[in-house]
Amino acid sequence: MEAPVTTWTDHTADRPISLTAPSGVDRAAHHRLDEAWLAAAWSHPSTRCFVVSGGQVLIDETPDGATELVMTPSFEAPLTEAHRYFLGTDEDGTSYFALQKDSLPGRMDQSARPAGLREAGLLLSPRDAGLMAHAVALENWQRLHRFCSRCGERTVIAAAGHIRRCPACGAEHYPRTDPAVIMAVTDGEDRILLGRQVHWARGPLLDPRRFRGARRVHRAVGAPRGPGGGRRHRRPGRVRREPAVAFPSSLMLGFMAHATSTEIDVDGDEIHEARWFSREELGAAFESGEVLPPYGISIAARLIELWYGRPLPTRSAF
Ligand SMILES: [Zn+2]
Repeated sequence: MEAPVTTWTDHTADRPISLTAPSGVDRAAHHRLDEAWLAAAWSHPSTRCFVVSGGQVLIDETPDGATELVMTPSFEAPLTEAHRYFLGTDEDGTSYFALQKDSLPGRMDQSARPAGLREAGLLLSPRDAGLMAHAVALENWQRLHRFCSRCGERTVIAAAGHIRRCPACGAEHYPRTDPAVIMAVTDGEDRILLGRQVHWARGPLLDPRRFRGARRVHRAVGAPRGPGGGRRHRRPGRVRREPAVAFPSSLMLGFMAHATSTEIDVDGDEIHEARWFSREELGAAFESGEVLPPYGISIAARLIELWYGRPLPTRSAF
C-alpha cells in the first residue's frame, strides 16, 4: 500500500511489538501463480511449514527461554487436502508455507501449545510473528470468501492462498484492505486525551474502567477543534506506524495528533467520558486502578506508550 504521507519506523521504542517489525521474509508474490516453482519450493529440504487452524498456531519455548513458532520441514508434513498458503522466502532462501486445517496437529512434544495472535504476537520473533499474522489473515479471509460475491457460486482457492476464483463466472477475488485510523491526541501542555467507550460499561468481558486514545476524535468528543472550523482538526498528525493487522480487511494506521483546543464535548453515544491526563495523572490512575491500559498488542497501547515515554503497566490479554 502506498500513500502520500511521510512514514518512518519508530526508533524510540523500548519494547518493539513483533507484529509491526520487519519480518525479514520477502512475500515473493510473483511466485504465487507459478505452480512449478511452488511445487519445487514445497519439496525443497530447507522449506518449513506450520499449521494454522481457527486463528491459532502451535508455539513452543526454546532452551534459551525464547518462544518460537513450531515449524516442520515440509517433506515431513502429511500430504492432505489442507489448503496450502505460500508465505514467502527469507534471505537465506528458506521458503515458508502455512497449512490450513480443521484442527492443530497432535502435540509432538509436551511443551508445544496452541496460541492465538494476541498472545503469540507479543512472544514470537518478528519473523515468526510476521509469518503467523500472514497465515491467520489469509485463513480469516478465505473463511469469509467461500462464495462468489458476483454470482453466489462456491469459489476455489488459487495463487497459493491469495486469490479466490469463481469457476462459474470467472471472477477473481482478492483480499481487500480498508484503512482505519486511530490517533492519540495531545494538548499544549502535553497531556493526552483518553476516552471511555459507552459499550464497555455493558459487556461483561470488557472493563468499564478502560480508557484509551479516542478514535474518531472529532466526532465523538468534539476535540480538537481549531479556529478554522471543522476541517482543521482532520489534518493528520504524523504517521507513526503501519502495522500488519491480521483482522479481516483492515489496516489500522496510528497517528499522533495535536489539539488546538482543550475543550471536550462528549457525544455520550460512542464515548461515555473523556479526560485530559498528564503523565503523572495517568501514572496515578494506573496505580489506583481507575484506568486500565489497553492490551499490549493493540496500537492504542502503542500510541499511549509512545507519549507516556515508558512501558505501560502490563495487562494480560486473557
Ligand atoms: Zn462468480
